[in-house]
Amino acid sequence: MVLDPRKKVILTITGRDAPGITSSLTAILNRDGVLLLDLEQSVTHGLLSLSMVIQFVGEEGDDKAVLKDLLFKAKELGVALDFTVVDGDEMLRSSNHQFAITLMSDDLQAKHVAAISAVLARRGVNIDSIRKLNERGLFCLEMLTYTSANMDLGALKDELLKVSTRYPTLDIAVQRESLYRRAKRLVVMDMDSTLIQVEVIDELAKRAGVGDQVAAITERAMQGEIGFDESLYERVALLKGLTEADLKHVAEAIPLTPGADILIKTTKRLGYKVALISGGFSYFGDYLKEKLGLHYVYTNQLEIIDGKLTGRVVGPIVNAERKAELLEQIARLEEVPLESVIAVGDGANDIPMLKKAGLGIAFNAKLKTRRAAPAAVNQRTLHSILYLLGITDKDIDEVGRL
Ligand SMILES: [Mg+2]
Repeated sequence: MVLDPRKKVILTITGRDAPGITSSLTAILNRDGVLLLDLEQSVTHGLLSLSMVIQFVGEEGDDKAVLKDLLFKAKELGVALDFTVVDGDEMLRSSNHQFAITLMSDDLQAKHVAAISAVLARRGVNIDSIRKLNERGLFCLEMLTYTSANMDLGALKDELLKVSTRYPTLDIAVQRESLYRRAKRLVVMDMDSTLIQVEVIDELAKRAGVGDQVAAITERAMQGEIGFDESLYERVALLKGLTEADLKHVAEAIPLTPGADILIKTTKRLGYKVALISGGFSYFGDYLKEKLGLHYVYTNQLEIIDGKLTGRVVGPIVNAERKAELLEQIARLEEVPLESVIAVGDGANDIPMLKKAGLGIAFNAKLKTRRAAPAAVNQRTLHSILYLLGITDKDIDEVGRL
């Protein structure tokens, strides 16, 4: 056999892993006229998968001798060796066409993987590798995939979204695979129902005995009958007379979202800046800033005179547009490109901010936000968003020990 020198050979070696397999096979390739172009190896559950791409550029007949030696050696080592001859460009991949697909579910099963891989196969997307990111049980899988240049990413995302609606516990995030996916540097979070499990204004209203009136205004705002700013003024007016002691009482009882501390601790240790941008109130934002060591907090300021709420808001309102502006402002100040910003929120007023960030995540969000955001996570714990960056439980543990 004499191969056309433009042809390349993909060798795949599989079998039970043992020391010396890679060394003895590469030793055979170590001769004039053989170029090693690519090599990838992984061992999963004790099974070796090694692939190499080689090209013969030397004397006629070299290819035959080398392949014969490889096959003999593989037999001796007890592994299977296959080879495929391909055209030059067949296995060239552009990094522009690589995607990371992250699956999360607290009952992740074969049916989920089957449904997703069926969509990928139909769309001509190849799966390069799959790895489990969480430690206990099966909760999160990351698929690295690649595809041809003309794949319609929007259509792929739509189809995957349909799969996730079929399985309510399943989250699927599709991201272009690049350095930016993993190299994030700023996390921007909403407060109410994102970083914390409650809406502070409801807690304050209960304490002031105006829970129903406040809820009615919130409902009218959600129905679009009144704007965000107006609804805020109206609700804050109802809180008039609450004391600083009331605020303290509510602040101390605030339940953090599970995993919030892990998310903040891990990202901070990795050198990220963490910001809270909230349409909620300064007293509580400042309380959390202190408690969690946040770098930035932007909130609405309740006016307090003689230790009591006056029912007024001071200064400019932090609304949807302002949230997005503040995100940009912090990124500029920290010299972080928007691609390296993660934004997390649940409300409609988070949508512009989520769209601005490199990774905008609707977290246990209302449908409208979920639809508008680039990614959605509907898991119980906030730190599950670290998986979207390819951060594993092992990484989290390691960082936690520093
Ligand atoms: Mg919120």
